[in-house]
Amino acid sequence: MKYVKRSAWGARYGRGPTSITPSAGGVAVHYEGGGRLTGKPHSTCAPRVRSIESFHVNGRGWQGIAYNLLVCEHGYVFEGRGLGRRSAAQGSNTGNQNYYAVCALIGDKDPASGALLNGIRDAIDYLRSKGAGRAIKPHRAFVSTSCPGSALNGWVSKGAPRPGGKPSPGKPAPSKPSPAPKWPGRYLRYTTGKALIRGADVKQWQQRMRARGWSLDADGVYGPRSADVCRDFQREKRLAADGVVGPDTWRAAWSAPVT
Ligand SMILES: [Zn+2]
Ligand SMILES: [Zn+2]
Repeated sequence: MKYVKRSAWGARYGRGPTSITPSAGGVAVHYEGGGRLTGKPHSTCAPRVRSIESFHVNGRGWQGIAYNLLVCEHGYVFEGRGLGRRSAAQGSNTGNQNYYAVCALIGDKDPASGALLNGIRDAIDYLRSKGAGRAIKPHRAFVSTSCPGSALNGWVSKGAPRPGGKPSPGKPAPSKPSPAPKWPGRYLRYTTGKALIRGADVKQWQQRMRARGWSLDADGVYGPRSADVCRDFQREKRLAADGVVGPDTWRAAWSAPVT
């Protein structure tokens, strides 16, 4: 990820409140809007982020730039409010509470370049690795707005895939469906107050889920995080979402297409 810290683009105001629970939701995608904005050199991107910050603080009265991250057409990810800060961009309390806001620096008449989409995907993967939930929503899912424009809206509704399916350097390639190894024969579950289930089978499942892009440790211990990932995965695959790895959930971890 080509990351531009606040100090590098010249942030001048605060980062906003810390009341956010992004694990309950995920990432909301925005655009800047307002005509044609792209086709300029990258040197103009930091000044643009500064002017958005200035508008949000002085024009809107917010505590800082509304977005957690901003992505330019050149694929750079600018740190806005950053991690662990409540966004002011979603226009709904639940949206701001449960979702990080990522803004594409494009207007409503601009195409979404491959570099931009890869940058947004970098931002999403980064936020997920820091605890954001799996949901990716367009701003218009929260309130009536044209944001993030039809191109990005369509892309988000497809799950925000990388253009051409190419993973960014350093990320594991999304794994293809493959035959599942035999189910280990015991149900992997997490029960509060009971001894944690451990073993090579747990580790095998965790490694498989990591290869599919989920963020969890492959430590061979089936704890609350494993159960959460399991439940989210089951929901995605329309399996009974009980957080228990039984034969169907085990098989789906290998045979279901990665989405
Ligand atoms: Zn928006
Ligand atoms: Zn740029």
